[in-house]
Amino acid sequence: MNLTTISIIGNGGVGKSTFTIQLCYSQFIEYYDPTIEDSFRKQIEIDNETLNIEILDYHYYDEWNNRIKQKIYEKTQGFIVVYSINDKYSFNELENYLNEIYKYKKVNDFPIIIIGNKNDLEDERQISKEEGNEFAIKNGCPFYETSAKTRYNIEETVFTLLREIRKY
Ligand code: GDP
Ligand code: MG
Repeated sequence: MNLTTISIIGNGGVGKSTFTIQLCYSQFIEYYDPTIEDSFRKQIEIDNETLNIEILDYHYYDEWNNRIKQKIYEKTQGFIVVYSINDKYSFNELENYLNEIYKYKKVNDFPIIIIGNKNDLEDERQISKEEGNEFAIKNGCPFYETSAKTRYNIEETVFTLLREIRKY
C-alpha cells in the first residue's frame, strides 16, 4: 500500500492533536490524552486519486533523543507546522521548527505548510493574519489559518500539503 507520511509539529497546546482528530474523525475534542495514540491513518480523495496518509502527532517533542527524531524525520514526506493565533510564543517558535526540519533533512527546501490554528478565537488573537502570511512567504511555505474546532480550512491544509509533496 502506498502511504504518505506527514508529521504535525509545533508547541504544546496549539491544537496539533485536535487538528489531527478533526481531520481523521470529524470531531472536536476539548481534551485529548496524548498518551493514547500518536499515529493516525486516513484515506483521502484528491485530484481523482486515493491516497493513504499517516499523520504522526508526537508529544514530548523536546524530549526525543536525536536518534529517534532522525528516524521520524527521515520517513516524514511533509510537515504541518502549527502555531495558534492566540499564542505569540508559539508563533515566535516557528523558525526553530523550520530550522530543525532543514537540519535533519539536510536540505533547504521541503514540503512544509504553516498554519495559524484556533482562528475561531478572534477575541484572543495575538498574531494578525498578515503577520502569519508574511512569515510563511518569507520562508516559501503555503499558509492557512485554521480552526480545529469549526473544521475551517482543515482539509484545504492537507490537500495543499499533499500537492506540495507531489511536486517535490
Ligand atoms: P497539542 O498539544 O498541540 O496537541 O494541542 P491539543 O490538540 O491538545 O489542544 C489544546 C487545547 O486547545 C485543547 O483544549 C483543544 O480543545 C483546544 N483547541 C485546539 N484547537 C482549537 C481550535 O481551533 N479552536 C479552539 N477554540 N480550541 C482549540
Ligand atoms: Mg497533542
